[in-house]
Amino acid sequence: MALVNKVLVVGGGIGGMCAAILLSRQGITVDLVEANPRWAADGAGITISSQSLRGLREVGVVDEILREGGSWNVVDICDADGHVRTTFPIEPSVGAEDLPGAGGIMRTTLASILGRATHEAGVSVRLGTGFSVLNQDVEGVDVAFTDGTRNRYDLVIGADGVNSAVRKYVKPDFPGPRLTGQGCWRAVVPRLRTNSTMFMGATTKAGLNPISATESYLFVLDKREGLEFIEAKRWPSMLAGLLEEFGGDLGDLRKRLLDGSLENSRVLYRPLAGHMIAGPWHAGRIALLGDAIHATTPHLASGAGIAIEGAIVLAQELTRRRSLEGALIGYAGRHYDRAHLVVSSSGRLGQIEQENGSREEHVQLMTETLRALREPI
Ligand SMILES: Cc1cc2nc3c(=O)[nH]c(=O)nc-3n(C[C@H](O)[C@H](O)[C@H](O)COP(=O)(O)OP(=O)(O)OC[C@H]3O[C@@H](n4cnc5c(N)ncnc54)[C@H](O)[C@@H]3O)c2cc1C
Repeated sequence: MALVNKVLVVGGGIGGMCAAILLSRQGITVDLVEANPRWAADGAGITISSQSLRGLREVGVVDEILREGGSWNVVDICDADGHVRTTFPIEPSVGAEDLPGAGGIMRTTLASILGRATHEAGVSVRLGTGFSVLNQDVEGVDVAFTDGTRNRYDLVIGADGVNSAVRKYVKPDFPGPRLTGQGCWRAVVPRLRTNSTMFMGATTKAGLNPISATESYLFVLDKREGLEFIEAKRWPSMLAGLLEEFGGDLGDLRKRLLDGSLENSRVLYRPLAGHMIAGPWHAGRIALLGDAIHATTPHLASGAGIAIEGAIVLAQELTRRRSLEGALIGYAGRHYDRAHLVVSSSGRLGQIEQENGSREEHVQLMTETLRALREPI
């Protein structure tokens, strides 16, 4: 007998959609509510690491992602003027040797691909809807939705991101995500390079990753304490300021940010926050997934990867185990180490950058973590 027949997923981000698709394919009735009425991710690019690609293949969407996005097998490390100094190969994950080492795509394109797959898997989706109350007893969870409707589920999965509202039912004492002291600047720009490229300035590092045949996204991290509010209209000039020490391609992009010939609406800023919450990751019939329970900074481009892997492990445990409690304990038990590795290593990489610490430690930690993540889940 199935452990659950009817599941509610709260949050239609990367983790929530992957969980909904996988559970629906197992014959479970799945409802998904997404607070955003347009179901639109932010207009930035996202890097899809090799383990994310492996996970997305299991979800059944990797071909479409590779068709619409960009991909690469090496990273070029350049000086501030854009001359290539070293090239690192990016190995694929174990079991995904036929896939590229990494990929990139617009978040909106990724959301559309996963959204289509969610509908095709038979998930019932309601946009612009959240929940107002969850009330559980031993046999189920009563949910009151913000659109005035009610329903009862065997399991509720909170995949509602870093500021999760479901989390208070599982971790009522959690104080909230912690700012890490860095901000992330991103911009969609024309594709100038074939490979993923890192530009090493004396004080700033910047990266360009392909996200389609014609576009890349530029990313820069800077030191930013606190939740300083920065008006969106200042973002392009502030990003240009961060690129001051660069020549070559980045120097040209800098000029274009200042003269307005790059679409300014495609520049985004976000302060970075993170957390790794100890188990259990569920209370009764309410469980947490993705950023709701483990939110990372982007240093290893693996936040989406661990959200996808969490969805895979949760779906597997729900078919393997004999009790729901056992399945939810098994999910956190199997997934905790990999999620912890990403969050803690990413946090340390950010710290090294803020303290202008050892480059050797930075490279070694990144290399070792990425190697571990390529192992099977
Ligand atoms: C600046 C930055 C850059 C990053 N770059 C990368 C990268 O290159 N590669 C990578 O792998 N990872 C990256 N990450 C991490 C990655 O974006 C996240 O780890 C990933 O999106 C987590 O997916 P999720 O489904 O858990 O949460 P989210 O993607 O945040 O999705 C949560 C969803 O829940 C919805 N929601 C929220 N509250 C409710 C509610 N009450 N009811 C209903 N719906 C609700 C939201 O609208 C949203 O759609 C980056 C993160 C940051 C901050």
